[in-house]
Amino acid sequence: MRLRLPPDQIEQLITALRRAGKKEIGGQIFGEQLMPSDFRAVELTLQKQPGTFARFIIDLVQAAQDALRFFERTEYRYTQFNYIGEWHSHPSFEVKPSSVDLATMRALVSDPEFQGNFAVLMIVRLDNGHLITRAWLFDPSGGEIPITLEIER
Ligand SMILES: [Zn+2]
Repeated sequence: MRLRLPPDQIEQLITALRRAGKKEIGGQIFGEQLMPSDFRAVELTLQKQPGTFARFIIDLVQAAQDALRFFERTEYRYTQFNYIGEWHSHPSFEVKPSSVDLATMRALVSDPEFQGNFAVLMIVRLDNGHLITRAWLFDPSGGEIPITLEIER
């Protein structure tokens, strides 16, 4: 699977990461499917409530509101525009999922209420002003695989 990150979303992400400093921040990833297994992250939402330096906790109320707003904006064309997954920052840690991150994502995709076929977790970090991003795809059948992120210019 490939996930493209457009310049406007990258710019907003870098601004938010600079403002947040040592606090973990995050939100949801909403995407447009361009081809099978090829997506563009058209909207990275930013949760208003940041985390601590070591932990980011999803605000389910804002997540639900942001999802509604995205589906409204894209006129409920779910096959083209849909939820891709979650992102958060690791300002103080390696750009890879912690054991809590793994457990959270596995619980999300294995929830009987979960309507997607997968969910992506993207972890980001600013290193001397440079954006570092990595992402993994979580499959409801178990297991996660790294995916290709492409920064669009
Ligand atoms: Zn994390």
